[in-house]
Amino acid sequence: MSESESEPESAESIAVVLPDGSELEVPEDATVEDCAYEIGPGLGRDTVAGKLDGELVAKEEPVYDGVALEIVTDGSEEYLRVMRHSASHCLAQAVCRHYDDVDLAIGPPTDDGFYYDFDNLEIDEADLADLEAEIAEIVEADYEIEREDVSIEEAEERLADDPYKLELLSEFADENEQVSFYKQGEWEDLCAGPHVDSTGEIGAVELLEIAGAYWRGDEENTMQTRIYGTAFEDESDLEEFLERRQEAAERDHRRIGNEMNLFSIQDVTGPGLPLYHPPGKTVLKELEDFVEELNEDAGYDYVETPHVFKTDLWHRSGHYENYEDDMFIFDVGDDEFGLKPMNCPGHAAIFQDQSWSYRDLPIRYAENGKVYRKEQRGELSGLSRVWAFTIDDGHLFVRPDQIEAEVEHIMDMITEIFETFDLEYEMALATRPEKSVGSDEIWERAEEQLESVLEKRDLEYDLEEGDGAFYGPKIDFAFEDAIGRSWDGPTVQLDFTMPERFDLSYVGEDNEEHRPVMIHRALYGSYERFFMMLIEHYEGNFPLWLAPEQVRVLPISDANLEYAREIVERFDEFRVEVDDRDSTLERKIRAAHDDRVPYQIIVGDNEEEAGNISVRDRFEDQEYDVEIDAFSAHLEAERDEKRTEPDFLQ
Ligand SMILES: [Zn+2]
Ligand SMILES: [Zn+2]
Repeated sequence: MSESESEPESAESIAVVLPDGSELEVPEDATVEDCAYEIGPGLGRDTVAGKLDGELVAKEEPVYDGVALEIVTDGSEEYLRVMRHSASHCLAQAVCRHYDDVDLAIGPPTDDGFYYDFDNLEIDEADLADLEAEIAEIVEADYEIEREDVSIEEAEERLADDPYKLELLSEFADENEQVSFYKQGEWEDLCAGPHVDSTGEIGAVELLEIAGAYWRGDEENTMQTRIYGTAFEDESDLEEFLERRQEAAERDHRRIGNEMNLFSIQDVTGPGLPLYHPPGKTVLKELEDFVEELNEDAGYDYVETPHVFKTDLWHRSGHYENYEDDMFIFDVGDDEFGLKPMNCPGHAAIFQDQSWSYRDLPIRYAENGKVYRKEQRGELSGLSRVWAFTIDDGHLFVRPDQIEAEVEHIMDMITEIFETFDLEYEMALATRPEKSVGSDEIWERAEEQLESVLEKRDLEYDLEEGDGAFYGPKIDFAFEDAIGRSWDGPTVQLDFTMPERFDLSYVGEDNEEHRPVMIHRALYGSYERFFMMLIEHYEGNFPLWLAPEQVRVLPISDANLEYAREIVERFDEFRVEVDDRDSTLERKIRAAHDDRVPYQIIVGDNEEEAGNISVRDRFEDQEYDVEIDAFSAHLEAERDEKRTEPDFLQ
C-alpha cells in the first residue's frame, strides 16, 4: 500500500484484543509471535500458531488493529490440528520418496485426522504400511520445519512441475505478493501453515484408508487419490481412537443394512437415492405408524403434496433465490418445474386456499413428505447424506398468543420420541440473528414464549444467541447414540416470513385481518437419518416392535415341521417365519442370531408331545416347557409397550 492510500488513523501502534477482553498495544507490523513475546517471553517461545478472529493462522502472520487474538501453544485445543497438518506433510514427503512423478494436490487437517490428495499415484491399502514406516523415519529424523516467504515468480519456478500447485498459486497471486513454503529435510510444499517446529514433535501417526476424490470436489475434474490418516500426541490416544473407529465400523449402517436386506443404493438407480427392501420398509412403516399416532393424538391433520411443483411456488417461497443450486429444476413445455426441497410451501398453499377465523387456529398439518436436495456427489454417504429423503414434517399456523402452548405440545411429542428409543439428547435455543425479518415485538414475544417452555420444564439447553434463522428463532435437538456420537434430530422453528410471502391471514376477534405465525417441526428429522442412526444405535438388534422378523420357529428335525407350521399359525399376529431348511439346529440357531431375530421358538419331539415350545432370545438364554399362550401374551405386551430389549427371559 502506498503512503497516500493509507488510512489516516493507522499510527505506529495498533491494539489486539486478548481472550480475557483486555487490549494489547503492539507495533503495526507485529506478527502473532511478536504479540506472544509482548505478553511474556515464555509464551513467545511456546507459540506454535495463532487464531485471528477465530481463524487458525501461522505464528508469522501479521496481526491487525482490533483483531481478536489467541495464542496457540502445545497445550491448546488447536495444537492437534496443527500437528496433524504437519503429519499430512510427512505423508506427502513419504509418498514423494517412494513414488516418481506424483503430482501433489492439497493436504489439510480434518476434525479427526488429515488427508493428502495425489494424482498419478498407483497405490493400494497394502502399500500403506511402507508409507507408515517411512513417515516414522521422517519423524525420527526430527527435521526442522522451516517457513520461507518467497515472491510469486520464485514460487512459479519452484512449482513448474506441479500443475495443481500452480493452479492454487495463480489464485493467491491475485491478492498476494508473496507466498509461503514449508520445508522439512529434502522436501517442501506450498502452504500457508501453521506447522509444528520439527517433525520430531509429531506423535503417533496411522494411515487409515485410500479413497478417490475429485480435484476441488468438482465432478468435472480429475479423480485423484486421497490417503486418509490421523495423528495423536501419544500412542495411547491413537489406540483409543482406533478402538472407537472400529466400534463405529462394526455398527456401520451400510454393512448392517446390506446384511439385513434393509435397503440398497445402486449405480443403476442413481446416487443418493435409497431403495427400501421389504425388511427395511417394515421398520420404516413402524416408525411412520408411531409418528402418525403421536400426530393424530396431538390434533394434526394429514395432507399430501406432490413431489414436484412449478417454480412459481419456489419463487414465492424464496427457495428459488436461496436454494436454486441445491434444487433439481427442469422444463416441461414452457413451464419450469422443480422437485421439492421442502414441504412447507405446499402446506402454506393449502392453508392459503381457505379463509380462517381466529377461532379456527391453530391449524396443524402433517405429511411424510419426500424431498430432494442436490448434494455434491462426493458428499453422499449411505443413508446419512442422500438426494432423496422423507421428513416427518409438520407445519402449524398459529396466532402469536398460541406459540407457547403449541411448542409445549411439540416438546411433549419430542420427549416421547427420546424416551421410546432410549436416546440421550442435547438441545439448543437459537435466537434472533443480526439480519432478520419480522418486527421487534414479534421476535421478543416469540423468544419469550420459547424460553418460557424450556424454563417451565426445567430443561437444560444451550443458548445460542444470534444463531436463529433470519425468519425466526428455533429449538434444535441432537440425538446421542449408544457410542456417544451425536446426530441432528428434531427441530422446532418459528417462521415470520413465509406467512408474509404467501399472504396468509385469519380474521381476528376485532374483525381485522391478522398474520398467523408458522411453526415448522419434525420429530425424527428425516426418516433416512433417523433410520441410519437407529441401525447404528442398536447395531441392527432392533426392539421387538421394530424388528423386521420378530420370531423365527426352528424345527429340530423335518419330523417336527408340521408342528412348527402350527406354531407359526398361533403367532400369526407377529412377523414370524419358519426355518424349514434341511440343516442342523445349531446352524438354524446361528442363522437366526446372525439375522438379528429377537426370539427363536424351538420345537422338537418333546415340545410336540407336551404341546408347548422352547424359547431362545438374542442373548442366547433359553427356556424349555414354555406355554404357547403365555409367550404370546408376553410378546404382545413387549411389542405394544415398545420395550427396547427382548425381556421374556431376562
Ligand atoms: Zn500444508
Ligand atoms: Zn417447513
